[in-house]
Amino acid sequence: MISCRVCGSAIAAPSYQASAPALTSMMAFIDIPTLAYVCDDCGHAQCGDLPDIDSFYDTTYRISLESDDHDQIFAVDAKGQPIFRTDHQAAVGLHLLDLPQGASILDYGAAKADTLRKMLKARPDLRPHVFDVSSDYKRAWASWVAEEDQATYQVPAAWAGRFQAIISHFVIEHVEAPVEFLKTLRDLLAPGGRVLLSMPNVVANPGDMTVADHLNHFSEASLKHAFALSGFVLETIDSTAFPGAFFAVAARSEAPVAIDSDATEVAAAAAAAKQICAFWEQATARLDGSAKRFAGRNAAIYGSGFYGSWIHSRVAGDVNLAAFLDQNPKLQGSSHFGRPVMPPAAMPSETDVIFVGLNPLKARDIIASQPALNRPGLDLVWIDE
Ligand SMILES: [Zn+2]
Repeated sequence: MISCRVCGSAIAAPSYQASAPALTSMMAFIDIPTLAYVCDDCGHAQCGDLPDIDSFYDTTYRISLESDDHDQIFAVDAKGQPIFRTDHQAAVGLHLLDLPQGASILDYGAAKADTLRKMLKARPDLRPHVFDVSSDYKRAWASWVAEEDQATYQVPAAWAGRFQAIISHFVIEHVEAPVEFLKTLRDLLAPGGRVLLSMPNVVANPGDMTVADHLNHFSEASLKHAFALSGFVLETIDSTAFPGAFFAVAARSEAPVAIDSDATEVAAAAAAAKQICAFWEQATARLDGSAKRFAGRNAAIYGSGFYGSWIHSRVAGDVNLAAFLDQNPKLQGSSHFGRPVMPPAAMPSETDVIFVGLNPLKARDIIASQPALNRPGLDLVWIDE
């Protein structure tokens, strides 16, 4: 029996479980089973705790430290050009927050704080502050954030009530206690200050359900609940600005905020989460079957992200894997689990089968746009059929 990380209700049993190892968002394996739970009372879904979470984020979890321009691709535009995550986050942040002149703004869980740095390019009047639970990023901050406006491990007491705005991109899904996390942000805001959060939307990207370090899988219903409990008035939840994610803006309230939960919305959110859990049970069984069916054949995996890494973990022992194929030019030429990452058009000609490691909601359109993958005799394995 465990408790919901948002509303505290008891959850009797996991809706999805898989034996160790579990795969993290940084494509590393950790020796714990994957367990996903769904709360019927608020529509939240969550994974089990990570062992030693503090040390995981301090020393193991590193975003984009390898090079200055390494950035995660989040979409490909109509001309096939990749769009990078922090450029888009900066644009959305400036638009949604509509910041006053000279505002003090904090990037909470900043990592390198590329998003805030890009916001500053458009708005040099802003006063940037950064916080993270690791000191790995200090060098990335040094040239553009004043020393006294940087904090690691603990936020200085003097920052309470300081900020007109806080941005926190793809952080809240990692925290064990999201309501406490939001209360911390609320207390850092000045009265009337606003927070902009982004987080994965598991319904739009079902792979998120099995990411071991994503302890929270919010629905709109559970996010509303969490904001109310932590003293925020919700302004916007946007599920379209960023594929596969929610952007939410909420304002600090001086009065307690009532929980305005809609039973139909909560039930629909819980049902959607349970359906995703069932999908993963079936997908795992199907992929194991495909690995046996194509045993010994020449194979490649399309996509070197989470789905591709998960496929690798299940088929590498059976098929003859030559490469990962990926559209992201910044990953091409690198290696992943010891195998080359190459553009789709460079796929070895003797390839018999492609395992498609993409968000199943988008996979068919992406593959259809790649002529090299649509040749006769090439088998495609999808994780959802
Ligand atoms: Zn709950």
